[in-house]
Amino acid sequence: MKENEKDECKESEIIDILKETGAFLQGHFLLSSGLHSDTYIQCAKVLQFPKYGELFGKLIAQQISSKVDLVVSPALGGILIGYEVARALNIPFLFTERSESGEMVLRRGQRIEKGSRVVIVEDVITTGKSSLEVAKVVDESQGIISAFACIVNRSEKTSLLDCKIISLVNIKTNVYTPEACPLCKKGHELVKPGSRKSSN
Ligand code: ZN
Repeated sequence: MKENEKDECKESEIIDILKETGAFLQGHFLLSSGLHSDTYIQCAKVLQFPKYGELFGKLIAQQISSKVDLVVSPALGGILIGYEVARALNIPFLFTERSESGEMVLRRGQRIEKGSRVVIVEDVITTGKSSLEVAKVVDESQGIISAFACIVNRSEKTSLLDCKIISLVNIKTNVYTPEACPLCKKGHELVKPGSRKSSN
């Protein structure tokens, strides 16, 4: 009971930090997919501040209950937070990146030892696609996936490949086609995230 209260409190504090730093915007946004949304999450905005990266890394690390040997994250979005989780756990950190053919791979001499227990860390899990691509790399190296973790879980899923998704906050996002967008119907101005208007 007490622990739940503590967690809820933390979740609202994290949302406040995301809002303060401009990482979590509410309004009417044009996504790169062409769809419209009422929220926009850009973790790069909060991870500009090492103190928040460090804090989030610690909070994620505290939720990892099993023993893990390695953090693996997809470039670029997962690198900062993955590194901070690895720092908090005092274990190594690796990252996957896209090869020229577009496949997620380990490069730069990085490798996962057979039997390593791995936590896969991303900034935001939306569909889980990047995390699953990393999972494939871990599988191919005969590593063992212990958990998935992220700052923001937007997926409404609680697990991937039967492994728990650890997250600091769960944020539900509404996404609309332009034709069906209720925000357009209300006449709200459409903002493209990352443009001067939204980043100021
Ligand atoms: Zn719209």
